[in-house]
Amino acid sequence: MSDLLAAAAGEIARRVSSRDVSAADMADAALARIAARDPAIGAFLTVTADLARERARAVDARITDGERLPLAGVPLAIKDNMCLAGTRTTCASRILENFIAPYTGTAVARLLDAGAIPLGKTNLDEFAMGSSCENSALGVTRNPYDLARVPGGSSGGAVASVAAGMASVSLGSDTGGSIREPAAFCNVVGMKPTYGRVSRYGLIAFASSLDQIGPIAANVDDAALVYDIMAGRDPFDATSSARPVEPCFGARRDDLRGVRVGVVREFDLAALEPGVRAAYETAYRDLEKLGAELVEVRLPTADYGVATYYLIAPAECSSNLARFDGMRYGLRVEGADVAATYEATRAAGFGDEVKRRILIGTHALSSGYYDAYYVRAQKARTLIAADFAKAFASCDAIACPSAASAAFTFNAKTDPVSMYLMDYYTIPMSLAGIPAISVPCGWAATDGGPQMPLGLQLCTPLFAERELFEIAGAYERATNHAARRAPSFGEVPA
Ligand code: GLN
Repeated sequence: MSDLLAAAAGEIARRVSSRDVSAADMADAALARIAARDPAIGAFLTVTADLARERARAVDARITDGERLPLAGVPLAIKDNMCLAGTRTTCASRILENFIAPYTGTAVARLLDAGAIPLGKTNLDEFAMGSSCENSALGVTRNPYDLARVPGGSSGGAVASVAAGMASVSLGSDTGGSIREPAAFCNVVGMKPTYGRVSRYGLIAFASSLDQIGPIAANVDDAALVYDIMAGRDPFDATSSARPVEPCFGARRDDLRGVRVGVVREFDLAALEPGVRAAYETAYRDLEKLGAELVEVRLPTADYGVATYYLIAPAECSSNLARFDGMRYGLRVEGADVAATYEATRAAGFGDEVKRRILIGTHALSSGYYDAYYVRAQKARTLIAADFAKAFASCDAIACPSAASAAFTFNAKTDPVSMYLMDYYTIPMSLAGIPAISVPCGWAATDGGPQMPLGLQLCTPLFAERELFEIAGAYERATNHAARRAPSFGEVPA
């Protein structure tokens, strides 16, 4: 059974559907793997063993009744900023440490309806603010490829759970890179859909004009399978698009002939460490070998992405997080009056990075500064989106790094700005709202450590998910970097 855990999600679903194995056996195998490996990795904040077994039995019964379930018995991990009814949903924050979700979010519910088995809730940077998982108030998650290194963030636990073979697929959220950067760090596939393509109902909001839920998987096909099931209009999320979903699972191309892939002039690879740079140069050449035509494109305003994002995202978070005040949810620290209770609750409940963002955001939105900061950032955002639109006039997809380096060691980035710069390559796509994916693309040693995995980021125009998966899948099958395990992977117990 544990061998089947390593199989593609589609294969697990086929075997469970044909009653070759039961969903109950898959749940037990995955829970056993978590018991063996997670003490070393720390991917999970909550393991929902009883729920997993109960859902697995229900899946087996539904199959016996003749239902067709595209995710039958597929072990699923869920980032702990998504609601799962009756389960602790913490956002890795003290303020929600004991919060029990009263309902299940739409994306999660769709996957469970399709037969997925919920294994538990995974660690993240507090409220998804960070790039290493080090901002979690509730636990440490380690990179399965080198336990001395971070898994990336903020979806670090979701990514590590798949990378270490505990979950078959997982759900992450991506506001400025939180699926793509950790996916790159842990040698798995992570995809951010077009803004509005997947419902955020039940996702605890960070920055509402940017947040998207997306799939994390061991391969592109599995990511597409999960994406297809989640995508589409949801009456509970007014920002979800009513546009019909083009199915992506099974969309395949064997080569990239006739595909124009844009390489961004402003993303100068010379700025990267030599080993990282060499890996990306090889990745571009591999795209060419598959028949793609590489064309130079320009994103002159992308360089303003990080500055723009760090006004818009904190502004929205300062507003979204105002609801955590000790009155309705989670932690409450009593003060002499209402104002003192707010203050004491928020002072005790939020960590430093969250407080920093709330302060920046509240300042940027305050009268007198609003035009100078927030409105200007929105204008810069429009220019960045326009740059992408112009670039896509001459190419079908853009390729670039998913992150500026491979996974770094714990405590390596102590000033906030160096952490913010980890998302230099992923933030522009988030601001533009376009879909993007990170696919394993090679290895490099950084800061004298072992060879660590890297991710190639591909993005396409709004709602061009199908092309995105096709191109990523062709690249993946031709290169197969995910198959290689780092030597240090052996440190993870079998
Ligand atoms: N690292 C970025 C941040 O800290 C992006 C996080 C995310 O996408 N949720 O805001």
